[in-house]
Amino acid sequence: MPMNILIVDDSAVMRSMILKSLRMAGLDIAAAHQATNGLEGLTLLNEHPIDVVIADINMPVMNGEEMIQRMKADDKTKNIPVLVISTEGSETRKESLKEQGVAFIHKPFSPEQIRDTMNAIHNSAGRT
Ligand SMILES: [Mg+2]
Repeated sequence: MPMNILIVDDSAVMRSMILKSLRMAGLDIAAAHQATNGLEGLTLLNEHPIDVVIADINMPVMNGEEMIQRMKADDKTKNIPVLVISTEGSETRKESLKEQGVAFIHKPFSPEQIRDTMNAIHNSAGRT
């Protein structure tokens, strides 16, 4: 089933690398929405049906952690799977994301890492 995805990263280069990796991995993408910070991401989440969110942590205006907290606090968005792709090095922060059910990939990433993680997320997203 084609996925509608949302990529949230303040780097345009990173957003296009992520999208390219998803396409190279053969993932079936219907719509790929893009936002440059968490606030824009939340707006797009309100406007479009999104199956998976791929988010950076370090961004201006609203960072990825706050965006995820707000998603989890809203019934409409709390069950949307989130994959964080970040240079984040703090184990504490990574643990707290994992406790919220957020998948994590380090930058720089390989297309295979993205493919495997996205497939795992998609397969466990509750579709039967
Ligand atoms: Mg960033």
